Amino acid sequence: MGAVMGAPTRRTRVRREPEYGVYDRAAIDAILDEGLVGHLGVIGDGGQPFVLPVGYGRDGDDVLVHGSTASRLFRAAAAGAPVCLTVTLLDGVVLARSTFSSTMNYRSVVVLGTATAVTDEAGKLAALRCLSERLAPGHFDYSRAPLPQELKATTVLRLPLTEASAKVRRGPPHDEADDYDLPIWAGVVPLALTAGQPEPDPAVPPDRPTPPHVREWARRRTR
Ligand SMILES: Cc1cc2nc3c(=O)[nH]c(=O)nc-3n(C[C@H](O)[C@H](O)[C@H](O)COP(=O)(O)OP(=O)(O)OC[C@H]3O[C@@H](n4cnc5c(N)ncnc54)[C@H](O)[C@@H]3O)c2cc1C
Repeated sequence: MGAVMGAPTRRTRVRREPEYGVYDRAAIDAILDEGLVGHLGVIGDGGQPFVLPVGYGRDGDDVLVHGSTASRLFRAAAAGAPVCLTVTLLDGVVLARSTFSSTMNYRSVVVLGTATAVTDEAGKLAALRCLSERLAPGHFDYSRAPLPQELKATTVLRLPLTEASAKVRRGPPHDEADDYDLPIWAGVVPLALTAGQPEPDPAVPPDRPTPPHVREWARRRTR
């Protein structure tokens, strides 16, 4: 369990719809642990921001990300460029009586800071295990271990959860008072990311069963 943050910083205080702002570490951790994809942003050459999707995994008080050593995004972040990692869970489309008040239900996290590269082999392996376990529990030990050259080709970064915020919207639409009299349906269409049935690679022999950790993974992510 990570440190309790509780209070926003000047940069992480949610100003727009402040009532949706959440700074409690347990709530932030829960969103991070449910998500599978984040968006990592850095300011690139010429001041151009680049925000690219990445896998990630929380390891206690840090978020781990990994990428190719050839990735410009990862090279910039490893060199100490300030980064912003955003994770979004989309929970529903909120259809209001007006298009203006229509919105989405969501839980999102924004982490600001500077990442540190994990450079020693043991630390990298442990971080990759953590990332793999967050994505697909049980698969790291089941699959072939990373080779030294694969480790060399991978940049692993740790981003501390010292400056982070969550924003959470739940519930029905909030329409203008006059609009409640309009003969218009309003409500929420829930959305969730769910797993389908595991599909074996065609090159897997037909008598090789789907391993229990894969079946369990799919079962847990099925609604
Ligand atoms: C799925 C989804 C869809 C959205 N769609 C829209 C849209 O179409 N239009 C729109 O205007 N806004 C949308 N938002 C809200 C958007 O993320 C911003 O919160 C909003 O635009 C206010 O921006 P701002 O720069 O004024 O934020 P401010 O409130 O000034 O942000 C200050 C600080 O609050 C924190 N913060 C702000 N937003 C978030 C967040 N979403 N999650 C976690 N921390 C946050 C950050 O630390 C940020 O630095 C959406 C959010 C989600 C998750």
